[in-house]
Amino acid sequence: MISVEEARNKILDSVGVLGADEKPILSCLGQVLADDLVAGFDIPRADNSAMDGFAVRAVNTAQASPENPACLRVVGEVQAGHKSDARVEDGLAVRIMTGAPIPGGADAIVPFEETDQTVRTGVGDSGKVGICRSARPGQNIRRRGEDMRAGRSILKKGTVLGPAEIGVVAAMGCACVNAVRRPLVAVLPTGDELQDVGSVLPEGKIYSSNTYALAASILKCGGVPLILDIARDSMDALDTQITRAMEADMLITSGGVSMGDYDVVKDVMAARGELVFWRVRMKPGKPLAFGLLDRASGVAGKLPHLALPGNPVSSLVTFEVYARPAILKMMGRNDIARPMVLATLDHDISNGDGRRVFARVRVSGAGPDLMASLTGPQGSGILTSMAGANGLAIVPENCAVAKAGSLIQVMLLEGSACPE
Ligand code: AMP
Ligand code: MG
Repeated sequence: MISVEEARNKILDSVGVLGADEKPILSCLGQVLADDLVAGFDIPRADNSAMDGFAVRAVNTAQASPENPACLRVVGEVQAGHKSDARVEDGLAVRIMTGAPIPGGADAIVPFEETDQTVRTGVGDSGKVGICRSARPGQNIRRRGEDMRAGRSILKKGTVLGPAEIGVVAAMGCACVNAVRRPLVAVLPTGDELQDVGSVLPEGKIYSSNTYALAASILKCGGVPLILDIARDSMDALDTQITRAMEADMLITSGGVSMGDYDVVKDVMAARGELVFWRVRMKPGKPLAFGLLDRASGVAGKLPHLALPGNPVSSLVTFEVYARPAILKMMGRNDIARPMVLATLDHDISNGDGRRVFARVRVSGAGPDLMASLTGPQGSGILTSMAGANGLAIVPENCAVAKAGSLIQVMLLEGSACPE
């Protein structure tokens, strides 16, 4: 039996960063930029107003106060997306909206709130305005290029495309971007007892919840699930489905990898390639196997095959510990580890046989006072206690019991350092 670290290293060492392709920007959420993005032009493209108000010459407002407003004549109006021909000479002002270009001659924007026009008057380009506060030259003016400067790299290769990064790409007018592609991950449920959802359950069968829990996990970390048909517990049935996975970047099976008479996944693995390891010093998840399958003859490279145990909690925990980091690595992500926090445990967790225990907990509280509460019975078939968990509390191999009231390391599952 190998350690969690050995297992993780063997898996991570056998996957590499995938190639890139050009895709519509919205479909790249969570993907990694494959090239530097260089600004093609300045943003803002021209000096423009940061407020709704009046474009003025600051010097004309030097003495302004609410009691003694500086009176200026309004000679025009300019809206975002338009241009004004009016020039702001001494004693004049132009009504201006946020985002509109600064009219010639003006060097400051006075917001409506600092004038005698605090109620909305609608469009109007004549009359007078009283400025109630002296303006500083440059105030409320957004300068050309202050956000993005033509010719500069604005997003580095390797950046993860989140909402703000996708906004930056869009601001440059790009409809598509070159991003490391998402791994195609085949999901193969195995077991004679399994039935797909959406049909009546015959006596003695169970629905294959792992199919969907694993496919959802793949989607959540950015991969594309390829759901294969349930394979019965025979080498032939497995072989047929595995053949369909040959175009995938990774194969994840669930079940059939323990000591049972019909647990033939390892045999198929050995027949189609190489069994790299079987069994890891962890709980749940001990029967995990990992192999490298030969692809079709003449096709280079191996297909990494992660054979997860069938128990629903074991399969999700081993996905978290091994599959998720491997998928993120293939996507070119550097941030492949879940955040860890220290929290105070609410119940004892015993660890009978020197494995690393991953216990389902709900982390609550804030700052240094986090609490980790067990979400229920810890049997590896109790899927509902996984559903309620936002963390996995880790009891080390050499710790026979993690005591209630002691501090414990928790791997956060929600991807957030601050649980609610
Ligand atoms: P196995 O690893 O094949 O011995 O399965 C261990 C336990 O997990 C058994 O009780 C199986 O019925 C259950 N199991 C296996 N595959 C699935 C699945 N796809 N969905 C839900 N439970 C499963
Ligand atoms: Mg089975």
